[in-house]
Amino acid sequence: MTHGHRGRFAPSPTGDLHLGSAATALVAWIAARTAGASFVLRVEDVDAPRVVPGCEAEQLEELRWLGLDWDEGPDAGGPCGPYRQSERGPVYEAALESLRERGLTYLCDCSRAEIARVASAPHAGDEGPRYPGTCRPHGHASRDFRRPPAVRLAVPAGEVVVRDRWQGELRQDVAREVGDFVLRRGDGVFAYQLAVVADDLAMGVGEVVRGADLLDSSPRQTLLARLLGGEAPDFAHAPLVVGADGERLAKRARGVPLRDRRLAGESGSEVVGHLARLLGLVAADERGPVAPRELVGRVDMDALAGVRQVRLRAATGESAC
Ligand code: GLU
Repeated sequence: MTHGHRGRFAPSPTGDLHLGSAATALVAWIAARTAGASFVLRVEDVDAPRVVPGCEAEQLEELRWLGLDWDEGPDAGGPCGPYRQSERGPVYEAALESLRERGLTYLCDCSRAEIARVASAPHAGDEGPRYPGTCRPHGHASRDFRRPPAVRLAVPAGEVVVRDRWQGELRQDVAREVGDFVLRRGDGVFAYQLAVVADDLAMGVGEVVRGADLLDSSPRQTLLARLLGGEAPDFAHAPLVVGADGERLAKRARGVPLRDRRLAGESGSEVVGHLARLLGLVAADERGPVAPRELVGRVDMDALAGVRQVRLRAATGESAC
C-alpha cells in the first residue's frame, strides 16, 4: 500500500454473501491488517431498486461470524461517513458537478436499442455495446429529451495503464474499448463506477482489494479518479472463486451461501480454513479451522499472483472447497 491508509470491503446488499464474497472479504481484510491500514466496511446500496431488505444486516453478521472486523462502517461510524452509498448522494453530486464544470460530461437520451443498432462491434463488457458518442456534441444544452437523460463521461483518448498487485499490467484504451460510460442513469441512480471512485477517493482508500471479476473496471476507475483530481488507488484483484465447473457461483447453489454454512453448524473459522487452503494462503494439508487474525503477517499474499480464478472442489454441497 503506497498511499492512503485504508482498505475496504464493499458488498452490495443485493444478494447473499457466498464463498466467493467471503474469499474477497478475507483477502481484503488480511491485506489491510498486514499493512497496518484501517479497514472500512462500505455498503454499496446505491442502486436502490436492487437492494434486498434485511440483506445488509445479515451480511454484516456473516462477516463477523467469519471472524472479520472493521474500524469504520455503517454500524461503527468513523470520520469518512456515511458508510452507506444511499446516504452519500451529495458526494456524488459534487463529483459530477466538478466534471461538468470542466466540460467532461454530457447528457444522453439514447436508448439501449439505439446504441445496439449503431454500435460498431459487439462488446461483451458490463457497459454493453460501446457508446458511439451520438449525444456528445450537445453537451449539457437543454433540448427536447425523448426520455430522462443519463449523464455520460466524455472519455479522453489514450491508453490507461494499471499495474495490479496480483494480476500484472493491464492496458486499456477506455475511449476506444469501452466508450463514454454512464455516471448517472436516466432514472437518477448514480452509476457504480462514479460512486466507487468518489468513495475510494473521499475515504482515502490506498489499495482496492476485490475479486478479479472487477479487474476490467480498474482502467475506468483510474481514469475517473485522475479526472476528479485525485490519485487513483492501487489495485489488487484476488482470484475469483468459481464452481467446480468453472462457472460463476450461483448464489443459490447448496453450500455456497454463507447462510447455508452457518445453518449446517459450521463455524466461520472452518470456512476461513477452507478458503485459505483453496487460495493457497496456507498449505493444502493444513487441516482444521483458521481464525483470520492467525493469518495476518503469516501468509504470503504473493501466492495469489497470476491466479485469475480458483475452483471449488465440488460445485455444491457440504464438501464444497
Ligand atoms: N459492490 C461491489 C460488489 O459487491 C464491489 C465493488 C468494489 O469492490 O469495487 O460486487
